[in-house]
Amino acid sequence: MDKTLKLALGSIAVGILVLGLKYLAYKVTGSIALYSDALESTVNVATAIAAFFAIRWSTTPPDANHPYGHHKAEYLSAVLEGVLIVIAAILVMHEAYKGFIAPRPLEAPLRGLLINGAASTVNAIWCVILFRYGRLWRSPALVADARHLWTDVVTSAGVIVGVALVPLTGWLQLDPILATLVAVNILWSGWRLMRESIGGLMDEALPEETLARVKELISANAEGAIEAHDLRTRQAGRVTFVEFHLVVPGTMSVSESHSVCDRIEGALRKGVEGAIITIHVEPEEKAKHPGGVPVV
Ligand code: ZN
Ligand code: ZN
Repeated sequence: MDKTLKLALGSIAVGILVLGLKYLAYKVTGSIALYSDALESTVNVATAIAAFFAIRWSTTPPDANHPYGHHKAEYLSAVLEGVLIVIAAILVMHEAYKGFIAPRPLEAPLRGLLINGAASTVNAIWCVILFRYGRLWRSPALVADARHLWTDVVTSAGVIVGVALVPLTGWLQLDPILATLVAVNILWSGWRLMRESIGGLMDEALPEETLARVKELISANAEGAIEAHDLRTRQAGRVTFVEFHLVVPGTMSVSESHSVCDRIEGALRKGVEGAIITIHVEPEEKAKHPGGVPVV
């Protein structure tokens, strides 16, 4: 099995363990804030499962049915996660509303906080592991997962401090207030996830700076060509598609123009991770901006 996949499986196991502990912490105390923290963990389990399948599908090589590969599976699962996250936030807000209307004191707050603290410690340790290997193996999915987990650890720390203050101050409304804050945070992360994934599904162009690098690489390696135009780029998970027209002198031989293309392709592959390049060669009367090698 792929090592990234193994780590994704580990995330599922850790997610289920943490969810169980956090749910227990809620059951022991009846705290809505701890309930919201537990629900956030359901999101983590769902995310981990989706990430597992996304990594499995998106690394499947292209086949007759999907000649461009399966990279977009990652976006599809991320949109699904976004929907789940929004549902979790709505559930939390509903509970928080009930808590505002009928505030009730917490039962066994210390025991609940200890259990929740243990769960967050497990989460923090797993987060460090994911960060290390995500960087090492250059897997954006793992690094993103680690980042998400880290925000959870921070949120949980805030919730623990807040819930501890409830019995100390006797301010019962603090519990639903905290839960609402967690819900807003959950909504925000869901929105960001969906926003990015929908951009990928809709074939958004490369970000400004990457696009600038692509243009630079083309024009620096296009010696012998006259112009490059109709540059189109899009991203599909780890893969970046680049296509453009390359104008060369009409008298240039096919082999010569092919070696210009190979040179550009080599440079792009080195400079842009996961680049898949298609170049359409044209004779000079097709040039839009004669003179130099401008990339339009
Ligand atoms: Zn053209
Ligand atoms: Zn070729």
